Amino acid sequence: MINLETPRKLAPLAKQASQVASEVFRPISRKYDRAEHEYPKELDMFAALMDGKDAGAGNAGAGAAGVRRKDKADEESNRNGSNMATVLGVIELCYGDVGLTLTLPRQGLGNSAIASVANDEQLQRFAGKWAAMAITEPEAGSDSASIRTTAVLDGDEYVLNGEKIYVTSGSRAELIVVWASLDPSKGRAAIKSFVVPRDTPGMILERLEHKLGIRASDTANFRLEDCRIPKENLLGSPEIDTEKSFAGAMQTFDNTRPLVAGMAVGLARACIDETRKRLDEAGVTVDYTRPANVQHAAAARLLALEADYEAALLLTLQAAWMADNSKPNSLQASMAKAKAGRSCVDIALGCVELCGSVGYGEDSLLEKWARDAKILDIFEGTQQIQLLVVARQLLGKSSAELR
Ligand SMILES: Cc1cc2nc3c(=O)[nH]c(=O)nc-3n(C[C@H](O)[C@H](O)[C@H](O)COP(=O)(O)OP(=O)(O)OC[C@H]3O[C@@H](n4cnc5c(N)ncnc54)[C@H](O)[C@@H]3O)c2cc1C
Repeated sequence: MINLETPRKLAPLAKQASQVASEVFRPISRKYDRAEHEYPKELDMFAALMDGKDAGAGNAGAGAAGVRRKDKADEESNRNGSNMATVLGVIELCYGDVGLTLTLPRQGLGNSAIASVANDEQLQRFAGKWAAMAITEPEAGSDSASIRTTAVLDGDEYVLNGEKIYVTSGSRAELIVVWASLDPSKGRAAIKSFVVPRDTPGMILERLEHKLGIRASDTANFRLEDCRIPKENLLGSPEIDTEKSFAGAMQTFDNTRPLVAGMAVGLARACIDETRKRLDEAGVTVDYTRPANVQHAAAARLLALEADYEAALLLTLQAAWMADNSKPNSLQASMAKAKAGRSCVDIALGCVELCGSVGYGEDSLLEKWARDAKILDIFEGTQQIQLLVVARQLLGKSSAELR
């Protein structure tokens, strides 16, 4: 059964991440919000420290871990593994800054994909490299099954052609995990992921996006033009299995959606703590021993926002715990992402509202967090797509039956 306290063995990790959030991220948060596209060099030293820690902790880092489903948990025992570690770490780091968390070297979503599905030889070859994830295309966002990038086998190499947009860490990562189709006539079953070193000829960086929030994180657009990679860079099986193939690729989301939910939880808690402090300074103290309806209206509103935060946190922990214990968690991963994504936006805007002009001005980070929040309800599947996945699961419908 799930235990809701922070597991003892993961407490030091959460504490370290919390220290990084307050001592490394917060002081440079505004600087890199203003200096969009400038690389936060302060992160290099921290990333080196994390590499050392990961090596010692069996991949229980604060950022990109993967889930290798063959690592079956003992049926009888409870296990808190890399998913719980990653989620707890990410919650703390995003308490500091979401954009900086997203730009931590070697902690990209591509690293999660590699850690989850690469074979032993690939794990060794790509070890220590920073990997971004490129699924989205101009004509394929929410409907990732409709991607048009192709991968054609030519001798010992795959030749990739297509366009990829909105790649987080695309200009900074060393590897890009690209989703492409082996045969567009075979539909979603032919979609596979390929590890493309960013400096491969034909992998052309077109531009960086200017964004509403998470400005410390770079977002890149690529064109792939006869981009050749060794055939050993395909992740998973090259077979086109109409039963399982796309489900395999989609399984990555079961691991990454709780992670994004964790980011939203961290940001939401930052907003709540800052607002509680500001309200306190203004003479409105939240009393946790009394019902909300007998308190100051501002305190009652903050309590309501905190209830949403708690719900998002619990769903996120559940989804991560299930992944660690080899329980199918697609439903819970989407529930967590939907609840946390929407709640963090509501909470951030609610906190700006509660703090009035203080919340809206640049003297506090609340206005930045309100801008940073929205992406967490968009990437790794929008709010609407998460609800669609939840509905399909609950009603037992396929993606063709409920779209
Ligand atoms: C800052 C940023 C970073 C990103 N990083 C990455 C990354 O690293 N890798 C990557 O591959 N992608 C990344 N993305 C892309 C992101 O995952 C997509 O933007 C997202 O999946 C939505 O796709 P779309 O923008 O094409 O919107 P669309 O799919 O066109 O959707 C537009 C609207 O329609 C709704 N909608 C779509 N289909 C349905 C439906 N069936 N039912 C109900 N509503 C629906 C959506 O919810 C949304 O509100 C990033 C995006 C941003 C903005």
